[in-house]
Amino acid sequence: MAKLHLITYGCQMNEYDSERVAGLLKAHAYELTDSETEADLILVNTCAIREKAEEKVFSKLGQLRALKARRPELIVGVMGCMAQLHQGEIQRRAAGVDLVFGSPAIAKVGELVERVKREGRPVLETGEAPLVKITATPAGTSHLKSYVTVMEGCEKRCTFCVVPVTRGRQRSHSPESILAEVRGLAAEGCREVTLLGQTVEMYGRDLAPLTDLAALMERVEAIEGIERIRFTTSNPFNFTSRLIHAIRDIPKVCEYVHLPLQSGSNRVLERMNRGYTRQRYLELIAELREAVPEVALSTDLIVGFPGETEDDFEATLDMVERVGYDNVFVFRYSPRPGTPAATMPEQIPLEVKAQRNSRLLEVAARAAAERSRRLQDRVVDVLVDGPSRKNTRELQGRTRCNRVVNFEADGRAAVGDIVAIQITDVLPHSLRGALASLPEETVCLSR
Ligand code: SF4
Repeated sequence: MAKLHLITYGCQMNEYDSERVAGLLKAHAYELTDSETEADLILVNTCAIREKAEEKVFSKLGQLRALKARRPELIVGVMGCMAQLHQGEIQRRAAGVDLVFGSPAIAKVGELVERVKREGRPVLETGEAPLVKITATPAGTSHLKSYVTVMEGCEKRCTFCVVPVTRGRQRSHSPESILAEVRGLAAEGCREVTLLGQTVEMYGRDLAPLTDLAALMERVEAIEGIERIRFTTSNPFNFTSRLIHAIRDIPKVCEYVHLPLQSGSNRVLERMNRGYTRQRYLELIAELREAVPEVALSTDLIVGFPGETEDDFEATLDMVERVGYDNVFVFRYSPRPGTPAATMPEQIPLEVKAQRNSRLLEVAARAAAERSRRLQDRVVDVLVDGPSRKNTRELQGRTRCNRVVNFEADGRAAVGDIVAIQITDVLPHSLRGALASLPEETVCLSR
């Protein structure tokens, strides 16, 4: 077998795509290796969401060029968002790249690699292709938790975002193909699935017959072996009461929602073309909390969007305090080529972005600590996913609200179990607890 080495940057969608590529290339006699130096084919799966992520890729491609100079038969490919966004520029800037292909062409990866070998010249494939549900996975991968792509692309056109360019228009996979994938994963021991899409709350609205995410989750609920269902990422603009009721009513759907706010200022939200106001966002949170009082919330926030004033930024700080997120991901605005915001006037200096970034993180950490304290002494269900990172004699798992919990199992629980844990300590980034019941006793507590 020839050897394939995969280097993945970016989001869960990229992790998922890389795994599928490895699965597809298995049929072309490639097996995975962790070693760059023994690989016959190296594929770099890229992220274009920020300039910094792109620079990392170009620096990696520079290193691979040196490797290829020593081993000219090595094939180097670039896939994913940068490939779609920059196309020919990658081969101009990074000599030695043999293959560039965008996300829509993933299903054809085997054929593209064969073309490079046959033609002995660089291949570029960045056009739109028919939507194909790829479920192939490399040998020996069975996961307790898996991502499942339910749709591709986005048509929302937020002014800072490259996704509509890199991932194309919004297209949902059929419920049957998704359910078949989930059944296959369950048969291999998967207990938790995260349904993935750039605007996952829009799932099914482009299908005939029309369907939606709530209907899909009801069908995933019925799959034996799957104990938890999550979904990400949602745009508040399309988040419906029906979806809120699905979180409340479908037992396996976890009480955790990632709902990107991006900015707390209506002026900035409008310039971002997000389609909602801070008032609408707060109404949504109130509706969610009323239906699902235990719901944990996380969000994405951008600091230093063009024209963001101190007042705009303070409106974001205010929203973080009002909402009380369990987790916040803060990004400094980075202009992306081809997006409307990149050419907007009043770009914010780097030092202002850095300062706002730290101020926001401080407020978010305080709010999150407050949310964590509510878990003290509570008994929560934990899906055990492996040994604890800091102490391998302990086990680690996650609550339904996505918090990491470490606990001493003393041989009474194992990976894959759902156990009831009483929280004894609330730490800044994790929780500590003690077994409150054994796995077989917790089946009825798994909600
Ligand atoms: S909804 Fe999300 S993926 Fe779509 S354009 Fe906006 S930020 Fe990008």
